Amino acid sequence: MTVTTRFAPSPTGRLHVGNIFTAVHNYLLAKKAGGRFILRLDDTDRARSTEAFAQGIRDDLAWLGLVPDAEVRQSDRVAAYDAALERLHAMGRAYRCYESPEELDIKRKVQLSRGLPPAYDRAALKLSDADHARLEGEGIRPHWRFRLDHDGHVEWDDLIRGPSHIDPASLSDPVVRRADGGYLYMLPSVVDDIDLGITHVVRGEDHVANSAIQLQMFEALGCAPPRLAHFGLLTSVDGELSKRVGSAGTEALKELGIEPIAVVAMLARLGTADAIEPVADLATLAERHDLGRLGNTHPRFDPAELRHLNARIVHQLPFEAVRDRLPAGMDGTAWEVIRPNLTTVAEAADWWSVVEGPIAAEIAPEDESYLAEAHAGLAELPWHGDVWHALVEALKARTGRKGKALFQPLRRALTGRDHGPEMAALLPLIGRERALARLAR
Ligand code: GLU
Repeated sequence: MTVTTRFAPSPTGRLHVGNIFTAVHNYLLAKKAGGRFILRLDDTDRARSTEAFAQGIRDDLAWLGLVPDAEVRQSDRVAAYDAALERLHAMGRAYRCYESPEELDIKRKVQLSRGLPPAYDRAALKLSDADHARLEGEGIRPHWRFRLDHDGHVEWDDLIRGPSHIDPASLSDPVVRRADGGYLYMLPSVVDDIDLGITHVVRGEDHVANSAIQLQMFEALGCAPPRLAHFGLLTSVDGELSKRVGSAGTEALKELGIEPIAVVAMLARLGTADAIEPVADLATLAERHDLGRLGNTHPRFDPAELRHLNARIVHQLPFEAVRDRLPAGMDGTAWEVIRPNLTTVAEAADWWSVVEGPIAAEIAPEDESYLAEAHAGLAELPWHGDVWHALVEALKARTGRKGKALFQPLRRALTGRDHGPEMAALLPLIGRERALARLAR
């Protein structure tokens, strides 16, 4: 059995942190087992689905490195759904209904006013052949419902939630095909999972009730269902996944300078008790992936934590991985000197401009003679080895300054900043001429 998972977004928008979480777990689960990860575009909603969004989703996955092994679109598979519906009809598990949305609404209101659950009353099951002929003769096109088995208790061993069960008697027979002939999500998803050999379905807990319905569909169609896993939906630091955070798409993450691997590394561990590790390759993340570690909680997504993880990952990135994104002239040595100070790779350009100059540095009046002393001292020193420490030692002996008063004015004059990379490593990058000029001002 090849472990096969699918990620099934509707192409009605781009990916955001919430559904990237789904993609990450399905991808890692499949890859850990050497299996397949399929992109399924749930585009049965023809009015809202667009090719531009489909392409956007492909681009988002490519940026994240979650490259699918195959892609299918539900709009290409209508014949398979028709065949399944026909089979269900023949065995009495699908039936035609004619109520208008208004009629259904009135029925629901009446049920609610009587304190009853607003489930469909199955009135259409009582229609005779003659009734069907009459209604269709009146030009009313039927919609189709799947008939749940109200007596069959639905149970599954959820890979995250553990033993789970739902009483189908509490659920409405779901509409599977609309009067206009278009399919709703429920049945196509099952038909696709069967045809694509999906072995594991990982999705949000908002699909738990759908799972009860879909397990009955698998059974009716004579197929073993995939293993199911439902995770708690992501929340933000302030309790709910706010618009700004929840809708953070790959464009926004890119703009923030977040490495795609940081997004995957973070989402792979979010909601588990395990530490989030600065792992920079997908194979290692897959190897360490364990769906069972996801508890029955709502993982909390914190953009600040993502930035922190990003920094830890950037601190490990080798020059080869970033050279195309660095400013011209910045070499491997410079990268290693500057890297520990970065939260994002893009910030390297900022430090490189400090190296190359020109820089603006505010010099305190009481440091002016000290810096003149430093200039003279540096001019005398041979430019090799640890020039920085040689300079500081010489100035210490000459001026009696210590600690911060000794090196802080030098850092500020040489870089225009009060903090930054190790001066011992930065000074050789700045070079003798520029350093002397900066001390002379
Ligand atoms: N298109 C559905 C969604 O995005 C897929 C759900 C599923 O994984 O079956 O919610």
